Amino acid sequence: MTNTLFDALFAPLGARDDAFLILPDGATMTGRAFLALVARQAHALRAAGLGVGDRIAVQVAKSPEALAAYGAAVALGAIFLPLNTAYTAAEVDYFLGNATPRVFLCDEGARPGLQPVAERHGARVLTLNADGSGSLRAAAQGQPETITPAPRGPEDLAAFLYTSGTTGRSKGAMLTHGNLLSNTEVLREAWRFSDRDVLLHALPIFHTHGLFVASNLVMLTGGRMIFLPGFDQEVVLRLLPQATTMMGVPTFYTRLLDDARFTRDLVGHMRLFISGSAPLLAETHRDFEARTGHRILERYGMTETNMNTSNPYEGERRAGTVGRPLPGVELRVMQDGAEVAPGEVGVIEVRGPNVFKGYWQMPDKTREELREDGWFITGDLGFVDADGYVTIVGRAKDLVISGGFNIYPKEVELLLDEVPGVLESAVIGLPHPDFGEAVFAVLVARPGVALAPEAALAAIRDQLARFKQPKAAVVVAELPRNTMGKVQKNLLRDRYRTWFTA
Ligand code: AMP
Repeated sequence: MTNTLFDALFAPLGARDDAFLILPDGATMTGRAFLALVARQAHALRAAGLGVGDRIAVQVAKSPEALAAYGAAVALGAIFLPLNTAYTAAEVDYFLGNATPRVFLCDEGARPGLQPVAERHGARVLTLNADGSGSLRAAAQGQPETITPAPRGPEDLAAFLYTSGTTGRSKGAMLTHGNLLSNTEVLREAWRFSDRDVLLHALPIFHTHGLFVASNLVMLTGGRMIFLPGFDQEVVLRLLPQATTMMGVPTFYTRLLDDARFTRDLVGHMRLFISGSAPLLAETHRDFEARTGHRILERYGMTETNMNTSNPYEGERRAGTVGRPLPGVELRVMQDGAEVAPGEVGVIEVRGPNVFKGYWQMPDKTREELREDGWFITGDLGFVDADGYVTIVGRAKDLVISGGFNIYPKEVELLLDEVPGVLESAVIGLPHPDFGEAVFAVLVARPGVALAPEAALAAIRDQLARFKQPKAAVVVAELPRNTMGKVQKNLLRDRYRTWFTA
């Protein structure tokens, strides 16, 4: 009996008595100890009713135990559904209603608010706190330290990762064992990861970048992770000397460059810096090289597809581009139903073993974005140059990416439009020195109402994760529109371009 992901990623840890996880306080966890934790948790979750094909939703702080929960879900043949820790109860309500998980894992502190939500959707609640304590640990205590994984093949589902939806609704991207493992195997070759690598891991593990790109790769290749709860500049600077590689969102790299202690000497020993999830400015790429001698390797991927393109390990890493399609991934640029010539901008489509199976219980959305012949319409606008390098120029779907997190303006606009005194709103992303982009709201008041922008933002605060909340707002007489009645957000972006940078 085989279990595609468990056999490739988790089972080999059992033979490792060396450190698999290095924690910020210097403590370590061996591969063997981690796998035993996975097994104990799996037995506890099985006792809680989790079985093959069931969903387990997880909204917990990053910790070794949280990563082990992913392994436990894989071992049981369940579907792992990680949720951003910033989501409010109203947002969690939607996810649990859509995915109807058997088990919901949350922080003890959040339990009073979330227990009724979980119960309404038929999910059993277990808790896992940032320090590893909680009812999951209690239930796992004394459980067997080995587990026979449920049989699962490449076509079986392993995870639902929720994306933000253009209409304000998130969609659960269904990812299979084969989707995840094939991409990790490709990245191992592309980025030359081995058991000698120590990855500095400061990314969240509720997102594809930190969970599947980073963690899966280290497990597959037998390396180690410096496993940090988040990006803390002091801790990162202190531990970089122990690392060989680092993955980050562009914000990580701009923050490091802002610090005089981030020097060539500090990172001279490093093998590789990788960036993704949001555009890395060509300027940051050049500043980074000038400071450290390293050329950041930028790659491009998304929740639905894992990684699609990458700059080369050997060869030219071209600033401002996301490199070429990875082996096995086809990429084309389309406009009005036809592929465009090199250099011309259009919507990027990708196809390959990495591409997801569709959106959970949303056949219409799936049909809109995933063609029957396997091409996925990414919604990103870009072009391919004569050498095959891909450049992303924007997003057809109007996405804002702030600090590496995606925000669909529509979701914020729908809430703002409900605020008393607001006639309509347009939410845009503006350049921000720290977050890359920051969410910004342009409001139109109802006739005769003296609308205070701050008050309008305060009114939606409880309904929206912090990272989605506009950082500033203005009130205008009317929104600019084109002849088709569409709001011309490009004009708004131009008008307020320097709001956060001036
Ligand atoms: P997510 O599904 O959260 O991973 O977000 C995926 C989106 O992030 C993509 O569709 C792109 O719009 C954007 N993205 C990811 N990597 C890059 C990159 N290297 N450059 C520009 N945009 C990127």
